[in-house]
Amino acid sequence: MGALLCVPIMVHDEAAALADAEAARDAGADLVEFRIDEVFSGSGDENETKLVLRLVAGSPLPCIVTCRSAAEGGGYDGDDMERVSVYERLGTAGRGGGPTLRAGSEPSTPRSIDAPGSENAARIVGVPGEHPPRYLDCELETYTRSANLKQKVNLAVASPDRPRESATSLILSIHDFQGRPADLTRRLLRARSEPVAAVIKLAYRARSVRDNLELFDLLAERDRPMIALGMGEFGLASRVLASKFGGFLTFASLRSAAVTAPGQPTVREILETYRFRSVRASTKVFGIVGWPVGHSLSPVVHNAGFDETGFDGVYVPWPVQADAASPDASYASFKATVLELVHHPRLDLAGLSVTIPHKENLVRLARESGWEMDAASEATGAGNTLVVERGAEVRARVANTDAPALAACLAAAVGGLEGRRIAVLGAGGVARAAAYGLSGAGAQVVILNRTRARAERLVADIARAGGGSAGDVRVGEMGELETVAFDAVVNGTPVGMESGPEPERSPIDAGMLAQIQPGAVFMDTVYRPLRTPFLRQAEEAGIRTIDGVGMFVSQAEAQFRMWTGLEPPPRLFENRTRAALMPEQ
Ligand code: NAP
Repeated sequence: MGALLCVPIMVHDEAAALADAEAARDAGADLVEFRIDEVFSGSGDENETKLVLRLVAGSPLPCIVTCRSAAEGGGYDGDDMERVSVYERLGTAGRGGGPTLRAGSEPSTPRSIDAPGSENAARIVGVPGEHPPRYLDCELETYTRSANLKQKVNLAVASPDRPRESATSLILSIHDFQGRPADLTRRLLRARSEPVAAVIKLAYRARSVRDNLELFDLLAERDRPMIALGMGEFGLASRVLASKFGGFLTFASLRSAAVTAPGQPTVREILETYRFRSVRASTKVFGIVGWPVGHSLSPVVHNAGFDETGFDGVYVPWPVQADAASPDASYASFKATVLELVHHPRLDLAGLSVTIPHKENLVRLARESGWEMDAASEATGAGNTLVVERGAEVRARVANTDAPALAACLAAAVGGLEGRRIAVLGAGGVARAAAYGLSGAGAQVVILNRTRARAERLVADIARAGGGSAGDVRVGEMGELETVAFDAVVNGTPVGMESGPEPERSPIDAGMLAQIQPGAVFMDTVYRPLRTPFLRQAEEAGIRTIDGVGMFVSQAEAQFRMWTGLEPPPRLFENRTRAALMPEQ
C-alpha cells in the first residue's frame, strides 16, 4: 500500500477550512490535517473548542488535528495543559468513527469507539454528529514534558493496552525548521520508547538533497508507521518518494500559496507531475541535478513518458548548489551528491539529467571515476546525461544529448547540414554542443562570442578532441553577419531569456538582419519565453525561426530512450513542454 496523501489546512475560518477539506477530497487527497493553532488560543473560550469539534464532525475526509506549538514552527504559544485538554476533548468526542481511510493504509488501531466520558466531555456541550479525529498530532517535546501531560494525551488516543477505547491514534512528532537535529538519533529513540505513539513523524529542513537519503534509511528501518520528510526545496524527493520506502504519508498543499511547510508541492503537482500513486518499492528513480532546478520542465516530460509507456519510474529534481566564485567547492558538492545518489543501496537511481552549471562537473567526475563517456561529452567537455546500470556492480556512463539534439533540429529545418554555413552566438556549454554537433554533421561553424578568448578555447578543444572532422569550426566577428551568407544563426547565449541577464534584448542588432540571405533560419536555444526578442526580430524581418523547444524535447527524448530502452510516445514531450510554457489564460 502506498503512502497516504494529506492536505494541511491552516484554520482561520470554519467555513473556509471545510471548503478546503472538500476541495482536498475532490483533488484526490486521502486525509486532511486541520492546523488549529491560529484559532485555538488556550484562553478557555469554549467556542474555540466547539469550532474544532464542528470541523472534525463536518470534515469530508478523515482528519488529523494539530495544535502546533510555537517552539516547533506553529502558532500556539498558550498553556500546554489547555492544548492537551482540547486534544482530550477531541479524542473522546461523540461516538462512531467518522470517515475512514483507504483499507490497509493505516496502523492497526481500531476505528470504532467506546469513548469513556471525561471531565471536559461533560463540561462542554458537543455538536450533533460529533466524532473524534482519526489522528491527533503532539510533539515529542510536549508529550514528554510531564507525566501529567502525557497522561492527558494518552486518555485521548488508542493505546496498546486499551486498543478499543478510542478511534483516535497518536502521531508523535519531531520538527526542526533549521536543519537536521543534532540529537536526531536520541530523539527518535525517545519517540520509539513511547508505546502509545501509533505513528512517528520526523520533519526537518533538508540542507542538501543528501538529507533525503538518511530519511529513506530511517523509513526503511522504522519500527512502526513513520512519516519522514525533508522540508525546503532540497526535501522534495522525500515527499514524492515516500511510498517507495514505506512512508506512512506525505503532505501536499491545496494551492501553492497555502503551503504550511517550505518546499511542499501542491496536490496537483504530486499526483499529476510526480505520479505519486504509481510510486512503489520497485520504482526506479531518475532526476535532474542542477542549480536552480525548480522551474525545470524535465520532470514534466519524463514522468509523462513513464506514465504513457507504463515504465515503473519516477523523475524528481535534485538541486545541487553551486557558486560561480568557487568552482572547486561547487564540484566537490556535485561529486559528493552524485556519488551518494548513485551508490545508495536503496534508492535505485537509474539515471540523471545534469544541467547548468554542472554539465562540466559531470565530465570531470566521469574522468575521475573511470566512467564510460560518449564522444560528444569528451569533445565538448560537458555531459547532460548519466545512465546507471545496477547489476552485480554499479556501472555508470555519461552522454551529451544536447549536441545531437541541436543538430537534428537544425538539420530538419535547413534540409541537411552538409556544407551549411552556420553562425553560433556564444561560446558556453550550448555553443560547444552546437559546434560539435553541427560540424560533426558537415556544417561550417563560426563562433561569435562576446569574449573572444573563450571562443578560441572552444575551437581548440573541439579540434583537439577530433570533432569537426567532417566540417569545420572557427572563431568569427559579429560583423560577419553582414558579409557572410549564413544558412542559419543559432543563439547559444542567455540573452532574451526570462529572468536572464538581458530578457528584453536580442543578441544581435536589428540592422544586421537586412543582410541575412533569403531562406536562412534563426534558431534560439532559449525557450522561456517561447518567442524571444531574437526570434521576434527575425520574424519581423521575414526570416524563418525555430524556438528552443525542439532542442529541449529532442535531448530529453534521447535520454528517455537510453534510460528505458523504450521509444517516447510521439509528440508527447513536445505537447507537454508547450502546454507548460503557454502563458496561463
Ligand atoms: P553558459 O555556459 O553560461 O554560456 C553563455 C554564453 O553566452 C557565453 O559565451 C557568454 O559570453 C554569452 N553571454 C552571456 N551573457 C551575454 C550577454 N549579455 N551578451 C552577450 N553574450 C552573452 O550558458 P549555456 O549553458 O551555454 O546556456 C546558454 C543558454 O542556452 C541558456 O540561457 C539556456 O536558455 C539555453 N539552453 C537551452 C537548452 C535547450 O535544450 N533548448 C539546453 C541548455 C541551455 P562570455 O563568454 O562573453 O561570457
